[in-house]
Amino acid sequence: MLRGSARSAASGRAEGPDAPGSPLGRTEVVAGRDLRPCRSRTDGANVAAMRAAVVTAFDQPLEIQDRPVPAPGPDEVLVRLETSGLCHTDIHAAHGDWPVKPTPPFVPGHEGVGIVEKLGSAVTTRRIGERVAIPWLGYACGECRFCIDGRETLCEKQHNSGYSVDGSFAEYAVASAKYVVPVPDGISSMDAAPLTCAGVTTYKALKVAKIVPTERVAIFGIGGLGHLAVQYAAIMGGTVVAVDVEQPKLDLARELGATHTVDAATTDPVAAIQALGGADVAVVLAASPRVFEQAFSSLNRGGRLICVALPADQQMSISIFETVLKGISIIGSIVGTRQDLAEVFELHAAGRTKIIAEGRDLEQVNEAIDEVLSGQVLARLVFEY
Ligand code: ZN
Ligand code: ZN
Repeated sequence: MLRGSARSAASGRAEGPDAPGSPLGRTEVVAGRDLRPCRSRTDGANVAAMRAAVVTAFDQPLEIQDRPVPAPGPDEVLVRLETSGLCHTDIHAAHGDWPVKPTPPFVPGHEGVGIVEKLGSAVTTRRIGERVAIPWLGYACGECRFCIDGRETLCEKQHNSGYSVDGSFAEYAVASAKYVVPVPDGISSMDAAPLTCAGVTTYKALKVAKIVPTERVAIFGIGGLGHLAVQYAAIMGGTVVAVDVEQPKLDLARELGATHTVDAATTDPVAAIQALGGADVAVVLAASPRVFEQAFSSLNRGGRLICVALPADQQMSISIFETVLKGISIIGSIVGTRQDLAEVFELHAAGRTKIIAEGRDLEQVNEAIDEVLSGQVLARLVFEY
């Protein structure tokens, strides 16, 4: 899902043709892959090509294009992608929904998982053949006050994968060597993709909620993020109330650890949660300001409203009186750090979380977006390359 204090920097990192004569300039190096030679725009030499799903304009469907395989800069790695999840943020990016917009043409995707195939000249921390994840936080400066005190997701110099730099809706992507995160053995690439955004984002949101085991945690919106939020809230000891408008998603939430479910299509969720004794934490994963307002109204004294979804409509109406008298905290939470993602992978490798995802081909990108927007996808769609 989500979110984006994204910076609108140049989007064209993958546009430079691979250097003639470099290993990736010879298709035999990647024999067995569906790579076709194409003509370099600069010198006419053959270079390796890759399929990519490209946003050409905010009011147009994505285009599947052949693009040159990008060459890593000195501090970057080239990753041959195996999977990439489709997050709601990618749809917001493709539609230009948010105040800070990406610059077309660009390649979305920030749940990329693949194999390091080439190292930039200055890279010492990664190795060829290693499996890594490319998350939303594609790069941070490493030196500002946010970076050095463990809040790198707030870095003002950050790059965001699939937004300010080209992302993982392609067979190859370049990424900062320091900001890719190793994927441990024992996790399939199909599972690792949703963990790379949906997982880390909800894990972090529940970490900042500082749940104690006697607390009731309401998760508003079950889907790619919500199905993981339910699991993390339960792991952290909360009693989980799942809220959605689709009964199959509520059934899934119950299977994954929710004690209570509320069908907001037929029931007022505020009244239903108040009848249970109110929520101590409400995490909002549904991109509608009205849902934020319902989540706020369902809170007990001392409650925490954790804002994660990023609706195109930015305004919600919250009572200042209620906020003050009830001592309610309103907290924004944006993705998670590399360490948070490493913890998410560790939990999954230990068998403590379950991913619900369906595979798709990249050629189906526009149909997949329609499926997600219809609300009918149970949890996550993942492109397999
Ligand atoms: Zn996302
Ligand atoms: Zn920084």
